Amino acid sequence: MENAFFSNDINVKKLIDNFFQRGRIPHGILLRGGNAELRRECAMYMAMRYQCVGDNPPCGKCGQCLKILSDCHSDVITARGSGKTGIISIEEIRRITGDSVIKANEGKYKVYILFDVDKKLMREAQNAFLKTLEEPPENVVFIMTCESDKALLDTIRSRVTLISLDNKEQVSQEISGFAEDIVMSMLQTREFPLLKSLACIIADRAKAKEILLQVKEILRKSLSQCFMVETDSDIAEKASLKLGKIKILKLIEATDSAVMYIEQNGDMNLLSAYLCGKYRRIAWQK
Ligand SMILES: [Zn+2]
Repeated sequence: MENAFFSNDINVKKLIDNFFQRGRIPHGILLRGGNAELRRECAMYMAMRYQCVGDNPPCGKCGQCLKILSDCHSDVITARGSGKTGIISIEEIRRITGDSVIKANEGKYKVYILFDVDKKLMREAQNAFLKTLEEPPENVVFIMTCESDKALLDTIRSRVTLISLDNKEQVSQEISGFAEDIVMSMLQTREFPLLKSLACIIADRAKAKEILLQVKEILRKSLSQCFMVETDSDIAEKASLKLGKIKILKLIEATDSAVMYIEQNGDMNLLSAYLCGKYRRIAWQK
C-alpha cells in the first residue's frame, strides 16, 4: 500500500529515495523519457519527497503532501508557459529565477517544476536559466521533464541530475559491468588493466557500441559531478575527483569518435588498441 496515490509503478522512486537517504539532495533534476503521465507523476513524487513532513516520505497524507496532490502548495510552482504551445518565455524564466531567491512560504523547499523543457524551453530561455541552475539559492530545487534531452544545451544537461524513466534505456548488467571496468581502468595508471578492459569490444561490434555509449554515459555523469551535481554513480564520482573537467571532456570526445568508427565498420582490433593509447594519453597526462 506504500505510496498508493500513484497509479504507475515508479521504479525510479528507489533511486530518488537513495539520494535523500545519503543526504545528497539534488537541486536540479531532469526526468527524461517515459510518457507524459509518468513524467508528471514522477515530478509530483519528487515535489512531495522534498516537502513531506510525515513518516516514510512522501507519505501522501500530511498537509504538505495533500496540498501538492491538490495542486495548491504555494512553494511548488509550475511554469505555466504561454500561447497554444505553452512555450516558457525568457520573461517567465526571469520571473522564476527572481522568485527563487525569496524564502519558502510553507514548505522546506521552493520547488519549481518545468514540464517538457525539450519542447517548451527555447535556447534563449535555457541560457537565461543557466546561471540560476548553476548556483541555485539554498533550499531551491528545479525539476524538469523532457521526452529527450537532445534539444537541451550541454551546459544545462551537465548541471542537472539526470533520471531516466525509460526501461529500455536501462543497459544490461553485462554491458554496464564492461563499461565500469573500462572507466575504472582509466583511473589506474597501469597499462595492462586498461588494455584488458578494452578487450571486450573486439568480438562483437553491436555490443562494443553499447559498451562505449555506456562509457560515455558514465563520463557524462562524472562531468556533472565536476559541477557538484549529484548522480547515482559512485564510479562517476571517483572519475570526477581523479580526472577533472578538461580530461573528462576529452575522454567523451575520444569515446564519441570511437563510436563513429564502429558505425563506419572500422577494424575492432585496431580500435581497441587505439582507444587504449588515446584514453591513456588523456587520463594519465600530468
Ligand atoms: Zn507527506
